[in-house]
Amino acid sequence: MGRRLVIGVAAAAVVALGLLAASTGRGDGGRARGPGAPTVAIDDEPSGHAVQRVGHDPASSLPAVDTAPTVRTAVAETKPLSPADREALERHERRFGADGPEGPPHWSDSVVGSVAWPPAREQSESARQRRLEQLEALRARELLGVLDAIAAGLAWLKGHQRPDGWFMDSGAALRCVELGHAPPCVAPADRSAEWSMAGTALAVMAFAAFRDQDVNGRFEPALARGVACLRAKQFADGGFPSGVFRASSTLSLIALGRMAAATGDTGLRDAVRRGLACAAREAAPDGGYHYFYEPFGDLRETAWIALAVEEARKAGIEVPEAVAEGLPRFVTSAWLGGHRFARVRGGAEWSAMAPVGILAGLLVWDDGRRADVLPDFRGWVAEPPPTRLYPLYHGVRVAAHLEPDMPQPWRDALLGLMRAQEQSGAATGAWRDLEAYPLSEIGYVGVGVVHTTAFAVLVLEEALRAR
Ligand SMILES: [Zn+2]
Repeated sequence: MGRRLVIGVAAAAVVALGLLAASTGRGDGGRARGPGAPTVAIDDEPSGHAVQRVGHDPASSLPAVDTAPTVRTAVAETKPLSPADREALERHERRFGADGPEGPPHWSDSVVGSVAWPPAREQSESARQRRLEQLEALRARELLGVLDAIAAGLAWLKGHQRPDGWFMDSGAALRCVELGHAPPCVAPADRSAEWSMAGTALAVMAFAAFRDQDVNGRFEPALARGVACLRAKQFADGGFPSGVFRASSTLSLIALGRMAAATGDTGLRDAVRRGLACAAREAAPDGGYHYFYEPFGDLRETAWIALAVEEARKAGIEVPEAVAEGLPRFVTSAWLGGHRFARVRGGAEWSAMAPVGILAGLLVWDDGRRADVLPDFRGWVAEPPPTRLYPLYHGVRVAAHLEPDMPQPWRDALLGLMRAQEQSGAATGAWRDLEAYPLSEIGYVGVGVVHTTAFAVLVLEEALRAR
């Protein structure tokens, strides 16, 4: 074992599956390869349940947090990693954890390799635990290949971020010119500016969801600039510019909430608190939130608010009573029984609303009502997944929650999304086929490549969610 440590993962389920983390030390966190560089060791032979927690390696000069971990997945009760999954995990470790020997070439090398290695940063023990749980979730779901797709998508976004931090098609098109991408990855979209808040918020959410995996912080500069853009646009009353759709404002609140939970930053927490206070003032009498400018709630927007509340609670931020009380009241009023939901209170069923309503219900209903509807919700998960990004995002999250092993049709949906990603040329990592993957039939039209790529990455990142 040499200098290797074995550190147990707190979650009992993960321990039972025998995910072991081996840690080796490298002080600089940089890219240097040399005789002392640790190697990736990924074993798939059974090793029983002997996961033990040991302390900091006394022979190492590293602090108690590790900046260059290596993951060793030992499969105790399930089948071994496939060769493709093993290669994906090794590649991921080389890119975001420890250095290791070169592996076979991969389509995502060019775009991920364009992201610079920053100075090392320390990863907290809790972040490290989450990272291992995420990898274990991917391994158990046999979806380790999404790591390449996520890394490539984020690397493309980073490369096409406007220098001042915004994620929008017009800015990306300028970056294509600067980078000599001919033809350009994106055409400047007429409505690009309109979607700049939502595009930036979605990109921040996508970078934030990968933060625990990005041990050395390769995407941190892009994330920090995106967060600064959103914060700079917050109004004095706590709201954000929203254009035609209120969602742009709420996505910004979700993104900042996610970062507030991840960092505990006082300024971010205050921004989220003010954003929720603004939402409370804008709640419709039915407890929901308007989508355009109607005086009544709409499930699409209300579900985003439920996600913003979830992130705020993770950050330990108190949720205004008007918001907390209104959410379950509205979701119930749009619920038609079973897994059927309407868009508005008392409206007709809209099948595209099913995953949106189910996720909102799981988030805001009390335990009793949730228990009553779980069989119906599971019945919905057993049906073919939606193909459009917006309902797929909510649906994958529901599937991962209700059926942690991710049933085959849902895995197929994610694999199909991965196949639609550009795997050659300057646009490697982006999702450009907007015809194949429209966001939805219910709005979000003409949002462009940046927006779609960020959304696609977010969908794939749901596979990282702990089981
Ligand atoms: Zn480009």
